[in-house]
Amino acid sequence: LMGQMMAMPLLISSLIKHAARHAGDTEIVSKRVEGDLHRTTWAAAERRSRQLAQALARLGLQPGDRVGTLAWNGYRHLEIYYGSSGSGLVCHTINPRLFPEQIAWIANDAQDSVLCFDLNLLPLVEKLAPGLPSIKHFIVMTDRAHMPAQTTLAGLLCYDELLDAEDGRYAWPEFDENTACSLCYTSGTTGHPKGAVYSHRSTLLHTYASALPDALDCSARDVILPVVPMFHVNAWGLPYSCALIGCKLVMPGPFLDGQSLYELFESEGVTFSAGVPTVWLGLLNYVKANNLKFSSFKRTVIGGSACPPAMMKSLQEDYGVEVIHAWGMTELSPIGTLSKLSAKQLQLPKEAQQRLLEKQGKAVFGIDMAIADDAGQALPWDGQVTGNLLVRGHWVIDSYYGEHSSPLQSLDGEPGWFPTGDVASIDDYGFMQITDRSKDVIKSGGEWISSIELENIAMAHPAVFEAAVIACAHPKWDERPLLVVIKKPEAELTREQLLAFFEGRIASWQIPDDVVFVSEIPHTATGKIQKLRLRDQFKSHRLP
Ligand code: ADP
Repeated sequence: LMGQMMAMPLLISSLIKHAARHAGDTEIVSKRVEGDLHRTTWAAAERRSRQLAQALARLGLQPGDRVGTLAWNGYRHLEIYYGSSGSGLVCHTINPRLFPEQIAWIANDAQDSVLCFDLNLLPLVEKLAPGLPSIKHFIVMTDRAHMPAQTTLAGLLCYDELLDAEDGRYAWPEFDENTACSLCYTSGTTGHPKGAVYSHRSTLLHTYASALPDALDCSARDVILPVVPMFHVNAWGLPYSCALIGCKLVMPGPFLDGQSLYELFESEGVTFSAGVPTVWLGLLNYVKANNLKFSSFKRTVIGGSACPPAMMKSLQEDYGVEVIHAWGMTELSPIGTLSKLSAKQLQLPKEAQQRLLEKQGKAVFGIDMAIADDAGQALPWDGQVTGNLLVRGHWVIDSYYGEHSSPLQSLDGEPGWFPTGDVASIDDYGFMQITDRSKDVIKSGGEWISSIELENIAMAHPAVFEAAVIACAHPKWDERPLLVVIKKPEAELTREQLLAFFEGRIASWQIPDDVVFVSEIPHTATGKIQKLRLRDQFKSHRLP
């Protein structure tokens, strides 16, 4: 017997239609690269998304064509998300902070047909343009008044002008929910970046799951400011989940320094945010240095790399901000696990609760996970044993863009699991904890040392601003941990003092062999510590 329910495809356009109808007058506020603060609504965003869909069709784009973007978080970028995906095109966000050669490689691999970009990125696009043969139209995301007087881009189009030429009488088309809606490339720390092609169906399911109380717990009562950029795995799905719940959305543009963020949080009454640990370092530093408090900010999700427990504690205890630690990756759209406690866990002593919250958390419904040894045999969930983290689920990739070979592997002989490249333990509550990316694990005399665990300890020292632990070659043990540290401004701290701080906090054989103080730690384009470069930088370092 078959179910007798309506077979409505799960489509991205339904999200913005819903927001326009049920939260039409709810605001979308954007800090623009043009310098001002712009206000619009979900109803207006939906109308302009339809106009954009008409404009892109008029430019000759066909279903499946890729619309590249090089843009910060803002309402025009949001319109491109909906106008392109909603009309059957594929929204391809590219990180403007990548090296120009990487951007060109990605745009060419994706065969983008148009490139939409923010006004302040014009010099970058002018430089890239000669190497982008697939791009037929360059569209600068601004209005007529701000169009550049001079440019080397032939036939440069003005975004607002394109939209103004359309009447918006456009019905969102219906098509197969498995159609591609967007494309994101991984950072490609080894080899070339790879594309993850999301479908309308996978994105809608991810959107439903991510808003749930045990996930991000977002509602129409929230004011949400995604600090995570829209080019970093679709701002972790927030442009979609905010439409689903119909909340006020605040977009910071390229202004992600502590002061700009703080002022926007306060002036717009932001209650919820999301970002990688490095942005919170900047914000917390600013707030601390100026003795400020948040008046509306209540919760934030932190992920992308491990959230140091000291940061979590400071946000919770000094500022009353609940931290939801989350783990995910581009190949997972990105949400995989989140740390939230059950009623039973809330009965545990406070420290035990805190230790759970510090982990990367439980799998959300829709994601199944396991840890396995190198032979693909499942390992126990005892919170001790670590192994390769495998996942499968509705919003996990099956293959990479343009590749026919499958990245999937077997678990206990059962095929269809995606190897994340992360090493983790899972406890009997089902809380997963990442100890490392497999390539960052320190292998000391056959034993593994978690670089994240050591970094978390160093970050708890009051004089440490940022810490990274890398493997350093050792004649006897193969590898030993080296701690690289940026001190807080004006803080006094010696190598010996910092190493003494580890005693009693970790097994003595895991304490780093050496500390180097630096003024800068390299970060990737998404704000993660670039361990590969750091290892390279210290490859001739002699341990004492
Ligand atoms: P990339 O860093 O390659 O751009 P992603 O943003 O998809 O790509 O990164 C995914 C990786 O980031 C994960 O495989 C994991 O190593 C790391 N990561 C994400 N969230 C966390 C977290 N909360 N704790 C530790 N590592 C994390």
